[in-house]
Amino acid sequence: MAETKIPRATAKRLPIYYRYLNILLDADKKRVSSTELSEAVKVDSATIRRDFSYFGALGKRGYGYDVETLLAFFKKILNQDTLTNVALIGVGNLGHALLNFNFHKNSNVRISAAFDVNEAIANTVQSGVPVYPMTELKKQLIEQQIEIAILTVPTTVVQEITDDLVDANVKGIMNFTPLRISVPETVRVQNVDLTNELQTLIYFIEHYGQQLGENGHDDQNETQD
Ligand code: NAD
Repeated sequence: MAETKIPRATAKRLPIYYRYLNILLDADKKRVSSTELSEAVKVDSATIRRDFSYFGALGKRGYGYDVETLLAFFKKILNQDTLTNVALIGVGNLGHALLNFNFHKNSNVRISAAFDVNEAIANTVQSGVPVYPMTELKKQLIEQQIEIAILTVPTTVVQEITDDLVDANVKGIMNFTPLRISVPETVRVQNVDLTNELQTLIYFIEHYGQQLGENGHDDQNETQD
């Protein structure tokens, strides 16, 4: 089941569905219709039905979806029953903010180790997370079995750090720097660029006004990522 090939846009919506289903479960709700779900998560119901169809027929006409079954299903797909430890490299302005946030609410992801070349911050604990010097990068990642890393370092050093991460068997990198890093095919990169996101938003407002999708959310758009 975990190997089901799904479009990237669908994959991005899964955590949104998951969060809302948890709320329904807490409220003791047994079933939910795609219309109800649609209103709550701001994704149109046709998209929801299509998203769910990638995993087989999960809903019944006239009944909707069984909350517990759906939740168990997403939990498995999203790996929510295992805690994923993530490393953060570069504890500067952005790195500090991410450490402080640390994803823990409603998610099973947490930053468990941070690294920085700056001696003033290495060997300290920031927002409850130990910060190691870069000389310990490979050792710690392997020992702590960390396979995901977040990069919040200056662009000048990002490629060399990426190479070190690959060397330490990292499988996924969330890259906050504006530089596009080179990795082997076995490593997946997710680029996050706030400037880009904001410029895209401005572009859509200027060119299309309010006509972007039923609920105004671009995450319904299959071609967008
Ligand atoms: P910053 O200068 O405050 O922090 C960078 C940190 O990296 C510092 O703590 C520094 O000691 C550390 N560092 C430098 N060289 C290193 C090395 N070789 N190994 C390990 N650590 C090293 O910068 P910032 O404002 O936090 O920005 C960090 C990166 O994130 C930059 O590339 C910036 O362009 C990018 N950024 C992205 C977004 C976004 O939306 N994606 C937003 C803001 C900043």
